[in-house]
Amino acid sequence: MVDLRNVHKSFGDLEVLKGVDLEVRTGTVTVILGPSGSGKSTLLRSINHLEKVDRGLIRIDGVLVGYRQRGDKLYELREREILHQRSQVGFVFQNFNLFGHLTALQNVVEAPVAAQRRKRREVEPFARDLLERVGVGDKADVYPRQLSGGQQQRVAIARALALRPKVLLFDEPTSALDPELVGEVLDVIKELARDGATMIVVTHEIGFAREIADTVVFMDAGRIVESGPPRAVLDNPTHERTRAFISKVL
Ligand code: ATP
Ligand code: MG
Repeated sequence: MVDLRNVHKSFGDLEVLKGVDLEVRTGTVTVILGPSGSGKSTLLRSINHLEKVDRGLIRIDGVLVGYRQRGDKLYELREREILHQRSQVGFVFQNFNLFGHLTALQNVVEAPVAAQRRKRREVEPFARDLLERVGVGDKADVYPRQLSGGQQQRVAIARALALRPKVLLFDEPTSALDPELVGEVLDVIKELARDGATMIVVTHEIGFAREIADTVVFMDAGRIVESGPPRAVLDNPTHERTRAFISKVL
């Protein structure tokens, strides 16, 4: 389970997260919607401590992210401990962020070898299976520039899975793709959802949200305005801001 309690984050004078509470149960999918600048990426980045929050606590399976608690005091973890924690969270970005000088297979193998000190020899067959699973098994030995956007994003998903993460975070995984490539990436994410992965997905794909989300969260101006099952939030929103947003993206 991912648990956020009263999370606050500012950049200078700009308060981007204004007390966010969010619970994501193991094996469920949460989709986050909201206008540009509402804090969606900052929220995701906080979950694996890419952003350090100013106030509030984040836990993954009961373990504090970024800190250790002794008595009522918090001590920040060392860089190595943070990297270890981060390796338990899979992150898929809008722009794929593959290493251009590594093949698809090497991109997938690298993360568990670097972050989890697993043996290259042992990881490789597993990495090939993952590429197969996301439908690019035949692309193992080519470089990112030789792949379509959809294929690159599927390699990025395989790379995130290679860490055997407790939770997968997706930040607008299809918004950099040509429209005809969106479906193939969404299909992979749906498949992961069916297999019981715990996921938080920021997306504007309402149809996709309706299909796979257990919970839809609508964020605006650093706050969660509304959250609940897709039927409630998407089809019958109680807040005017949610309604206005949904009618715009549909
Ligand atoms: P989008 O839909 O455009 O991706 P978002 O909901 O993901 O938006 P965030 O990226 O979380 O929004 O940004 C929220 C606010 O915080 C924005 O006003 C943004 O400019 C600001 N912000 C984000 N990162 C930083 C940073 N590192 N330094 C300063 N301001 C930042
Ligand atoms: Mg964003």
